[in-house]
Amino acid sequence: MTKPITGRCLCGAIQYSSAAEPMMMGHCHCEDCRRSSGSGHSSHLAVPEGSFTITGAPKGYKRSADSGHMVTRFFCGACGSALYSTNDAMPGMMFLRASSLDDLEIFKPQMHVYAARAASWDRPGQDLPAFETMPPGM
Ligand SMILES: [Zn+2]
Ligand SMILES: [Zn+2]
Repeated sequence: MTKPITGRCLCGAIQYSSAAEPMMMGHCHCEDCRRSSGSGHSSHLAVPEGSFTITGAPKGYKRSADSGHMVTRFFCGACGSALYSTNDAMPGMMFLRASSLDDLEIFKPQMHVYAARAASWDRPGQDLPAFETMPPGM
């Protein structure tokens, strides 16, 4: 068993842990990710919900995403840090924000999604696959 993945918000009021390895990791350039990130994209690690435990009570903000699916973004109500999101189209998965990891190096990006929305100053490089929207079949 590898070490659990742990993370927290900026003020530390909310902490989480996932016992499972990430199922996928990537950067998202959609507008909602940009607006909630403070930069040109946000970076996520998908883990199974069953592996996930949390201490503290994050606030959730639910909104219809570019994909048309309902996405709920969870954040700390005290410090405003983005923590993770869920997507109605992918039940049972939690999308942890790489920015909230205790160990940032756990994040190993595999792809860019919503690359068509990327800012001119934050374009995907050539090192990873980049999908205009989501990869086919997702
Ligand atoms: Zn906080
Ligand atoms: Zn996004």
